[in-house]
Amino acid sequence: MKALGPIPPEFTALDGELAIAGRPASSLVKEAGDTPLFVYSRDIIEQRIAGLRAAMPERLNIHYAMKANPYGPLLEFIADLVDGLDIASIGEFEQAREAGYLPREISFAGPGKRDRELFAAIKAGVTLNLESENEAERALQMGKQLKVKPRLAIRVNPTFELRGSGMKMGGGAKPFGIDADRVPALARKIVDAGANWQGFHIYSGSQALDAEALIEAQGQVLHLAEQLANDAEVDVPHLNMGGGFGIPYFDKDTPVDISAIGAALEQRFAELPEVLRETRFAIELGRFLVGESGVYLTRIVDRKVSHDTTYLITDGGLHHQLAASGNFGTVVRRNYPVAIATRFDAEAEEIVNVVGCLCTPLDRLADAAHLPRAEVGDLVAVFCAGAYGASASPATFLGQGAAREMLV
Ligand SMILES: *Cc1c(COP(=O)(O)O)cnc(C)c1O
Repeated sequence: MKALGPIPPEFTALDGELAIAGRPASSLVKEAGDTPLFVYSRDIIEQRIAGLRAAMPERLNIHYAMKANPYGPLLEFIADLVDGLDIASIGEFEQAREAGYLPREISFAGPGKRDRELFAAIKAGVTLNLESENEAERALQMGKQLKVKPRLAIRVNPTFELRGSGMKMGGGAKPFGIDADRVPALARKIVDAGANWQGFHIYSGSQALDAEALIEAQGQVLHLAEQLANDAEVDVPHLNMGGGFGIPYFDKDTPVDISAIGAALEQRFAELPEVLRETRFAIELGRFLVGESGVYLTRIVDRKVSHDTTYLITDGGLHHQLAASGNFGTVVRRNYPVAIATRFDAEAEEIVNVVGCLCTPLDRLADAAHLPRAEVGDLVAVFCAGAYGASASPATFLGQGAAREMLV
């Protein structure tokens, strides 16, 4: 038997079934028309953001990194709850505009921005987090061409990284950002060129659950920003401090202690160095805001036994939930939180493998899981499906096509 990850505490049983936003899973599937289906709960998103606001200093802005979940209704819903949006392509910009975001609320990071993307962003007034000297040069040129002052910030490749981070994105050689030692010269140049200077973006990692590691990284971010600004003799109108707050996906994972992080940040904001006193601060989060709000529902289409191992074969799989299959940035595969949605309060009585319908051994949703006995027609729920699910999985693989999505 292999342990399953922890089910977010908001999910309870109703008439024996998993309830999401007070409605049984099977009725949601009926309304959507079919499985596989992603359901995202407004209540849970609201609760996560409210909890974060209560824990963090008032001065800290909260941005949503939309690559975690770009589903239109969710994007629209979260607009009223956050202070800004971080995008990574012009495709995302177009989705953001449709959802009602204003260009000045948006910043655009990403290491390979094409000319037409820079052009559209500058024309609209989106802040660019510059990832190289080459990109800075092109952005300044386009500003001249368009006769506008481009809103420019520098994404710094920091000299440190977030300890315990699920995905390392800072420290040493990286395709992201500009090495810290070259940042002051470029910052000076951007300011001298008359651009609308926005400051720094320093992102050091993702999916960290250890508050101490996050507190340490935030301290290093503030220190680095101070140093860079002093070296370049520029001010820092805005500092995007990165994010990295994780969610518990696996057995023994525990939630991030956000009140400890908030208290440490409050303390630091009270003792800011001269050059950061007027700065507007932000953190950018994806999975922490939306990850636990989502449930992926898929139906059991077959139940079979091979060499004493029972397989529950579903109509979903890695083409919608690549991360749960263990093939999206994980080294060792572990089980996500998984349950039989239509027998949510039944006792676990057998050990089964839950797999998807794809013809590949990679398509696993739960290995050696201890679950209630389930039959063909029952629904399986994979939790923590609100981030890096539908849009981060290869939906067209094997001709399967996209899952349905709904916000409730
Ligand atoms: C992916 C990414 C995020 C969001 O990461 P989460 O782990 O979902 O919070 C934020 N900022 C940048 C620069 C990213 O690349």
